[in-house]
Amino acid sequence: MKDKMIIAGPCTFGTYEEIYEIAKELKKRGITYLRAGTFKMRTSPDSFQGLREEGMEMLLKVKIELGMKIVTELTSIEQVKKYGNQIDIIQIGTRNMYNYELLKEVGKCKTPVLLKRAFSATYKEWLSAAEYIKREGNKNIILCERGIRTFETETRNTLDLQAIPYIHKNTDYKIVIDPSHASGHAYMVEPMAKASLAAGCDGLLLEVHTHPEQSLCDKDETIDMKTLDCILKELD
Ligand code: PEP
Ligand code: MN
Repeated sequence: MKDKMIIAGPCTFGTYEEIYEIAKELKKRGITYLRAGTFKMRTSPDSFQGLREEGMEMLLKVKIELGMKIVTELTSIEQVKKYGNQIDIIQIGTRNMYNYELLKEVGKCKTPVLLKRAFSATYKEWLSAAEYIKREGNKNIILCERGIRTFETETRNTLDLQAIPYIHKNTDYKIVIDPSHASGHAYMVEPMAKASLAAGCDGLLLEVHTHPEQSLCDKDETIDMKTLDCILKELD
């Protein structure tokens, strides 16, 4: 596991106890990067939007209590100004890869940025988004492939593993693979994580929950701790 960056945690959470329990299980397994969204970008305004500021306070509390690094999505310039330097990695979600004003704002922070590929972006558009961040001074950018939209409707998206050799050959960026949002199915996460490792990815972003069926968001793609253990075993 040493040379691969493993970022794991729930899509979102509804209570402090929930996020703390998951974080504790992850820490036990040697995972240092806890991912969890609190400012959620949901397709429907009727869906749970995250605990927002309240959730951010909980994440910052977990950071102190368990000494974990926090990876979470920020969706507005205001949030970046407020929390950008308090978290460990700023996630830019697929829907915001084209939000150039937001990219410029995270470019002013010193915090590393996990830049997710927009679900319809070409490699060049993705790299051009990274350039917006870089030009403001923040060169600490990690790219994340999270599936692109294709004609297939049985899966949430289609994982583009070709992005791994492309990014390695043409850039100096590290590339992390998110098989959870790519497939939308928990049973596909382990085989796709293995395929990503075989293709040479620099890390994985995994949606994990101690009780996936209780996830407030993306429960169909969320793996349990047992599946996570199988992926971690593959890494060793
Ligand atoms: C997430 O990681 O929780 C997320 C919403 O991802 P994406 O922006 O790739 O859909
Ligand atoms: Mn999710």
